[in-house]
Amino acid sequence: MSGPPILPVSPPPARSTDPLAAPVQYLKGVGPARADALARLGIVTVEDLLLHAPRRLEDRRRLVPLRDLVHGAVQTVEATVAAVSERRVRRGLVLLKAALVDATGVAYAVWYNQAYLKGQLRRGVRALFSGKVERWGGEVRLRAPEFEVLEDDAEETWHTGRLVPIYPATEGLSQRVLRTLVRSALEAHADRVPEILPEALRAARGLLGIREALWALHYPETPEAHAAARARLAFEELLVLQLGLALRRHRLAREAKPFRYGTGDLVERFLRGLPFPLTRAQQRAIREITADMHAPAPMNRLLHGDVGSGKTVVAAAALLVAVQGGRQGALMAPTEILAEQHALTLRRLLGPLGVEVVLLTGGRTAAERAAAREAAREGHGDVIVGTHALIEETVVFSRLGLVVVDEQHRFGVLQRARLRRKGAAPDVLVMTATPIPRTLALTLYGDLDVSVLDELPPGRQPVATYWRSAAARPKVYAFVREQVAAGRQAFVVCPLIGESEKLQVQAAERLAEELRGGYLRGLPVALLHGRMRAEERERIMEAMRRGEVAVLVATSVIEVGIDIPNATVMVVEDADRFGLAQLHQLRGRVGRGAERAYCILIASPAGEEGRRRLQVMTETTDGFRIAQEDLLLRGPGEILGTRQHGLPDLRVADLHRDLPLLEAARAAAEAIVRADPALRAAEHRALREAVRHRFAGAGLAAVG
Ligand code: ADP
Ligand code: MG
Repeated sequence: MSGPPILPVSPPPARSTDPLAAPVQYLKGVGPARADALARLGIVTVEDLLLHAPRRLEDRRRLVPLRDLVHGAVQTVEATVAAVSERRVRRGLVLLKAALVDATGVAYAVWYNQAYLKGQLRRGVRALFSGKVERWGGEVRLRAPEFEVLEDDAEETWHTGRLVPIYPATEGLSQRVLRTLVRSALEAHADRVPEILPEALRAARGLLGIREALWALHYPETPEAHAAARARLAFEELLVLQLGLALRRHRLAREAKPFRYGTGDLVERFLRGLPFPLTRAQQRAIREITADMHAPAPMNRLLHGDVGSGKTVVAAAALLVAVQGGRQGALMAPTEILAEQHALTLRRLLGPLGVEVVLLTGGRTAAERAAAREAAREGHGDVIVGTHALIEETVVFSRLGLVVVDEQHRFGVLQRARLRRKGAAPDVLVMTATPIPRTLALTLYGDLDVSVLDELPPGRQPVATYWRSAAARPKVYAFVREQVAAGRQAFVVCPLIGESEKLQVQAAERLAEELRGGYLRGLPVALLHGRMRAEERERIMEAMRRGEVAVLVATSVIEVGIDIPNATVMVVEDADRFGLAQLHQLRGRVGRGAERAYCILIASPAGEEGRRRLQVMTETTDGFRIAQEDLLLRGPGEILGTRQHGLPDLRVADLHRDLPLLEAARAAAEAIVRADPALRAAEHRALREAVRHRFAGAGLAAVG
């Protein structure tokens, strides 16, 4: 069946100024199947396709005759498949080998365990092969080369004889198809993409124009032209991001707090009553926070300090600045267990000062929740501690002054914002232990001032970390018994299985049973998981605190925040199931007192990445290094979870290597916002649109 298409090939896009927003299936050559495959790559609109940056460029400008292949080099040849064979070389290893010929000689392409390639490598097929050259016996081989079959009617110039883009690809979408689609998108739309960078900025930074950049991103004449194009597009992306953050920062800085704190002596009495002197870093953080809180604009500060650096005390001091000043404070934590612990700690620390600490979590009874809400609303609650339950609509504060968010990386920007709106321009302090490289800090927390606890309380020793296989479990638990006999306590974290909390709970129950009946027979072993009733959980944590429980078997509910200074052993079963950041947090549950502490990771990982992760854990306790490794292993997208954080996705920019660009973009954004705070000038209007558009897509209004 043929005839005119029912849908026009290129319909007017949703907004006439924005051809980029058109869905990619309106491009020629994209049917439902390809649209699905593209969607798997995150390509939904024409813009997504235009910005689908090549993973790398393959230099096919120079095709090497087979005779001239050089051992050890990565080279490209154009050759014909003369024969294909397949052979099992040893158990589990199948060698696929294609004999290649051209006018000058013979070479072999080899792949291991990639039998599915056979279908494309029929005898007589002419193709480009690109890979590392090796000599093997008497043969010259290309090891696992990428290849592209040449069809006679192909428009050669796009796929060979030039720098060729190699894209992140997916099943059902060959490089060739992707290249063809990108090219038709460029031909149809590149000319209509608006230039949003102001002329002056482009000139000052020597940036390519948008059209030129889009073409050269995919089809550059030289590697340098590609790099310039990538830099231009990454800069634009980062500028829009930083502008959004700068606008928010600017707006907050101009906002006037509708109240001022009175003064009092609570903070001082609290600090004097502490059983330990503050570290210098804690003192500095408290000074910075106090100054912010007494300033006319609301505080918007991040307190960043590795696990165990003592953030809670700093938060308590900040809460007291609010309370002695006649206001309420709220402290939000990501888990009920942590909220309960904070409520306990704060009651212990602040109760004697006459401060009323109230706990509000979803796990409490209806009557308790109602009482807590009333305390917040009527104002007799001074400090309200809770989980997400704090941001529910029914929660109202009578005179909220300060909002503290603990383990803030577990919350999104939206949740932060919602808690903030519970008061009239309250001060906000967010805390995190997630050590993050500077690029991510500038991105995630680009709208915050930062205090750093770069110092652990004195006497802490690094947690000795070991990686053992499951076969060593008897020894591991014998060691746990020894520590218990010496008066210490231990955590055992059960394997992480899937997403289901129910299965997770069963796994924890099984492990506790096993240990009680076996390796830890006769010891007081308790179980803790997320499905327990709140009183039950509190009873167990209390027993743990009093030292009546020797070993706490738990799911990863204890991952963040839990503070039992007498616990010296953390055993993680199937540790390879956890990410680096998680393992670092889990390890942070011990080594919080003066005693030597141990973390034992039980794992037999199958993959290289898993081994690498465990290796890193045994090599360092430096959270910053662990974050860098995490960034390398998982990539920034994963860690950033930008959607979750309410920031737009980055497509071209790479937070791993674009720190200089990011800093330049941040400076440029600052300058623009300082000169034109509402982006009203003609040359900023397109930028303003872009910021609005991208941040709205991420669920957050940056401008407004
Ligand atoms: P985190 O930064 O991980 O939230 P916490 O605030 O839970 O750390 O503190 C960890 C432990 O260190 C707690 O038991 C706390 O009482 C203790 N602590 C905090 N500050 C100091 C200090 N200056 N000297 C000694 N111990 C401290
Ligand atoms: Mg903490």
